[in-house]
Amino acid sequence: MGSSFEKIPRAGASGRRAGSAERPMALSPSRAGDFMRCPLLYRFRVIDKLPEKPSAAATRGTVVHAVLERLFDAPAAERTAAGARAMVPDEWEKLLAKRPELAELFEDDPRGERLAGWLGDAERLVERWFTLEDPTRLEPADRELYVETVLDSGLTLRGFIDRVDVAPSGEVRLVDYKTGKAPAPRFRSEPLFQMQFYALVMWRLRGVVPRRLQLVYLGSGDVLTYDPGEEELRAVERKLLALWEAIALATETGDWRPKPSRLCGWCDHQAVCPEFGGTPPPYPLPVVDAGAASAAGTGFGSGAPADAEEAVPDAGAASAAEARSGAGTDAGVDAGAEAGADAGAEAGLDAGAVTGVDAGAEAGAGVDAEAAAGAEVGVGAVASGQGAQGRMGQV
Ligand code: SF4
Repeated sequence: MGSSFEKIPRAGASGRRAGSAERPMALSPSRAGDFMRCPLLYRFRVIDKLPEKPSAAATRGTVVHAVLERLFDAPAAERTAAGARAMVPDEWEKLLAKRPELAELFEDDPRGERLAGWLGDAERLVERWFTLEDPTRLEPADRELYVETVLDSGLTLRGFIDRVDVAPSGEVRLVDYKTGKAPAPRFRSEPLFQMQFYALVMWRLRGVVPRRLQLVYLGSGDVLTYDPGEEELRAVERKLLALWEAIALATETGDWRPKPSRLCGWCDHQAVCPEFGGTPPPYPLPVVDAGAASAAGTGFGSGAPADAEEAVPDAGAASAAEARSGAGTDAGVDAGAEAGADAGAEAGLDAGAVTGVDAGAEAGAGVDAEAAAGAEVGVGAVASGQGAQGRMGQV
């Protein structure tokens, strides 16, 4: 068992490599979300590493996040809205220098009008943040914190937390910025799951359950808070283990089923998705019979979770996954970790689909596992403010 808690640069929003297929090695909230949304999308992103077009929304999210991180470099009294706005063009230029491919976002904009509007939107998002939080009264313990931990099962969890606040009492608050609008209560399961993921990682790393999880929606000016409890984080851990087992099974069998939803409209990979008449590329990894894969265990070298068999009850169903898997390329439901998730929420991402409530038959045994685990976590109850141990509030 190991863990790390360090500050390293967050990767760019897209810029994926092609032609370097690998087995999944760890789970992040973004990739867990990909698999829950569409297993084929997960395959394209994690295993095939298919390139995705830069997204203006995701890139704007990256710039806004950079400003909100760097803002705290200045002394408290100098953290002003005007100063933060002024940082936006500079952060865009720095991002562009690191990722020149982003220039294509504005290559059909010779007079710079679209770029000016895009920068203006980013500036307004930054300015709105000042109406929601007061940076002169905040001294974050960490910003853009990379966290990684290995669970007892062997599953590695990792990701970036936008901001970590620690009160004098030692209580911890995890904060995540979203550049989109706050979703309606019935669509809050995905952002909540992301925060629960981070809460679980922090609990494992520091031995203390974060007191509060806070989502700051800059697009609508909403702040959603949630106070997690130990029992539900254990349930989240079980859900993640079941999800990982489902991913392992799909990796071994090559059975990655498309799961169409409204998010297909944001997917870069429709041209190679069977749901849109496309043919995926040949699966780049060796495959085994689904039954054999299930019998042998599919833990990627990690210990199979205790409830994995219960969670992935029918590997035969996965093998009966029929011939839809063959090939597929492109899965860009949104290139950016941040703005993409926001876009999903704005698009009305179906919380039922995310929690796998009805996805089993559609997407194979892997998502069945998710359905079982999702029910266990009780996301629906939480989203409606009735979580047994936690409360989702709006401030
Ligand atoms: S187009 Fe839709 S179904 Fe196809 S891979 Fe993308 S998200 Fe999945």
